[in-house]
Amino acid sequence: MADVAPRELRVDVTGILDELADTIDVELEFALEPIELGPQRFVPTSEAELNVVLTYTGTGIVASGTVAVDVSTTCARCLTEFEMTVVGDVQGLYVRPGVEAEVPEEQEAEEITGRHIDLMPAISAGFALALPFAPLHSPDCAGMCVTCGQDLSEGACSCEEDLSRSPFAVLKDVVTGEENNS
Ligand SMILES: [Zn+2]
Ligand SMILES: [Zn+2]
Repeated sequence: MADVAPRELRVDVTGILDELADTIDVELEFALEPIELGPQRFVPTSEAELNVVLTYTGTGIVASGTVAVDVSTTCARCLTEFEMTVVGDVQGLYVRPGVEAEVPEEQEAEEITGRHIDLMPAISAGFALALPFAPLHSPDCAGMCVTCGQDLSEGACSCEEDLSRSPFAVLKDVVTGEENNS
């Protein structure tokens, strides 16, 4: 059934809709679909953990908190598969139908449908900001050899022996020469 409808994460807000400044702590875990971001694919290896406080402000409901999930992805430099934890900020504003006019134009607001709000758009936005465009399996990943594909973090490949014949050898001499002059 979830295949047809857009993914939602609906929370019942009945408990706070009548009392100003009332809050609900939303703490729940849910399964997350793999996330595609450009050429990068992030496959969840844990349930996503949501920790959000909902506050009724009179005009609507403000959601504020975090969502965290462990994902498996490939290093953008050496293509090693590795796991990382992603923590996104979840910020949302939800208004009753018809009160959008009171919401500042630059502020994006979702509607409260019935007595529910859908936290999924805010969660997706949080992940989109938190996920790296070029994840590295380690900050000092050495990358891989463009000639043979060897993972240079695991050691040099034999291509380096041919360095003297590569165009970079010339460059190396120039750099060394400059160092000697100074
Ligand atoms: Zn790497
Ligand atoms: Zn190589």
